[in-house]
Amino acid sequence: MPKKNGMIMASFSLVVAASLLVGGANVGSAASDLESTSDIASTNINLAAADIPAKFKPSVEWVWKNRMVKEGSTNRKNLIFDQIYAGKGTLNYVVRWQSSKNITLQQRKDMASMLSRQINNWNKQLKGYDGWPYNNITVKIVGWAVANPSQILNKQSNEIVYTDTITDDLSKTDPNIPAKLPVAPNALSRFEHFMDPNYSYPGGLDKRFDMYLWGTSNFQGGAGGDWGQRMPDDYILNTLNSDEIQITEHEMGHGFGLPDFYEEHERPPGGFPVPTIMWAGNSPKITEWDTWMLRYTWSQVKKDTSRFPNR
Ligand SMILES: [Zn+2]
Repeated sequence: MPKKNGMIMASFSLVVAASLLVGGANVGSAASDLESTSDIASTNINLAAADIPAKFKPSVEWVWKNRMVKEGSTNRKNLIFDQIYAGKGTLNYVVRWQSSKNITLQQRKDMASMLSRQINNWNKQLKGYDGWPYNNITVKIVGWAVANPSQILNKQSNEIVYTDTITDDLSKTDPNIPAKLPVAPNALSRFEHFMDPNYSYPGGLDKRFDMYLWGTSNFQGGAGGDWGQRMPDDYILNTLNSDEIQITEHEMGHGFGLPDFYEEHERPPGGFPVPTIMWAGNSPKITEWDTWMLRYTWSQVKKDTSRFPNR
């Protein structure tokens, strides 16, 4: 994990191909999964870190101290917590479509709903918890970055399409990856400007984008960080209407600063009391452990009152 790349490399992860199948096969049972996680949020109002159940406390504290603090996974002030704060309860996405597949108007609408659902599956775990001020996050897609603008079928007048591309270095070692990588303007990217408190986005804050949803043909697994979530184009298209999406939610978890648990030494010595979506393949949905790890993380990062004023 090279230090200079910080969050980007630290959060890069590969989920085994089998997880893709699990995610796809799990669509049918997702509704009940969603219901069980919303119960957690609705029954725990005005909670704080001291309320963490005893069975979760040792493992959550171990991960915070021995992984997140040591690895500095919350140091960059561009976690999804920071992004939501800066956007006053909103998150803006650009879809980066590294694929020759067309996207219909219905698919684009579904993609926006899907992103909103996944972000709010995480956010609702923070609802009513330790001063977190946003009960619901307004998630918008503010642009489409594609190599060929005709891929955006039935383009609406209010849709913005970017057609600049750079070369994806990954295509040099893997010829199945498209060489052309579409990009949105750096001037509108929070990722490029979050360190400058005086930066103003051309056209105003509403025009900025916080993260990419990045679909790549023939990509294996997933990757996530404060820059967004990357996965196969087909995985995105096949999960547009799913309630909980294993890889998408896992990669968003990295955006909140949560780590991977691939190696045994990376996991709590006593193990996890229940499965976690952050250990790839361990859970197809956000669990109670993930909820408390997310909450505990918020309780820690909010101590920096210059970063999160009045919390
Ligand atoms: Zn991961």
